[in-house]
Amino acid sequence: MDNNGGGRPARATARGRIYRYLHRSRGFCAKQDLARALGLSMPTVYQNVNDLMDMGLVSYSGQRQATGGRSAQGLAIVPEARLAVGISVTDDRLRLAVTDLLLRQVAYKVAPFDPADGLDEPLYRELERFLDENEVDRFRLLGVGVAVPGILSADSRQLLFAPTLGLRNVSVEGLYSRIPYPVHIDNDANCGGSAEWFIRDHQPNMAYLSLEGGVGGAILINNSLYTGMTQRSGEFGHMCVEPGGLACSCGRQGCLEAYCSVRRIQDEGFTVQEFFSRLERHDPACGALWGDMLRHLAIGVNNIHMALDCDVILGGYLTGYLESWFPLLREYVAHGSLLDEGAEYLQLSTFRSHSSMLGAACHFVQDFIGGI
Ligand SMILES: [Zn+2]
Repeated sequence: MDNNGGGRPARATARGRIYRYLHRSRGFCAKQDLARALGLSMPTVYQNVNDLMDMGLVSYSGQRQATGGRSAQGLAIVPEARLAVGISVTDDRLRLAVTDLLLRQVAYKVAPFDPADGLDEPLYRELERFLDENEVDRFRLLGVGVAVPGILSADSRQLLFAPTLGLRNVSVEGLYSRIPYPVHIDNDANCGGSAEWFIRDHQPNMAYLSLEGGVGGAILINNSLYTGMTQRSGEFGHMCVEPGGLACSCGRQGCLEAYCSVRRIQDEGFTVQEFFSRLERHDPACGALWGDMLRHLAIGVNNIHMALDCDVILGGYLTGYLESWFPLLREYVAHGSLLDEGAEYLQLSTFRSHSSMLGAACHFVQDFIGGI
């Protein structure tokens, strides 16, 4: 999560600083702007920009007329110079995305998946098919991130508990050996949090709440993922929001996950799409269920905010449908809140339902950028 990629000396190189400045830059940026902003001499800027251009990572982009006649050439990173893949695993599907260095999704696919078939072979097969279908240049591929809905061991070699996949104490070693590219496996909510952190210009503190088949979370403090003593921090899905309430996949009752997950909708016999189209048609049964889900979600959000006092970002599959309901959710949150009357701290994720997948890929993008 931090910005120091593996192998990079502690003191950032001029080349790395220039690249990262251009990566975050939103407007026109010429060599003179780089020298001024980073406190570098013009020869240093010239030399390092030339190096970055030789590496295919930076190119010229447009011109600006300078006072006195001479025009300055703008610089920009080449986003497609490297690519990364993110795979999100759920109990019934794999979602795969290719991203560029700006974490823009350049290809996407959904494939059916059954956890009973194991992870290694299905993921490997779908990945290769996906790369072939999109003619992805393997030489530009930094790696493959896999987002799983469960708790991993500290070394990410063991999936300790994934209730929505029906898996407990399963080795994921086979994924590292079967997939012929660098592999990173992480909890889906951690991935989603990483993607949001990346796209929000490294906002240092936030809580991320993931609404998928299950409900998970991630806590970011001072630009780092807070993992807790045993890698189990941010398990917001299993906070109790209704003592003695609905049965949860973890075996207990009244958890946030039991109230606000995709699975609750499916358990009522609807697909998510069907459910939301019925809601739009004012179906009373769906309306009552959704009202109950939103009210419990508001309790969960309030609890998270009271404990952490930071922005709470909602991501995951359900947020793809949440936009038109968001003002109402904020109202519920504000109603139960101690101080923050407008609940402005509650926000929808930038990537909506694609956060965990893009966040899995983000691991490699971030590592690459940090390592230049
Ligand atoms: Zn639970």
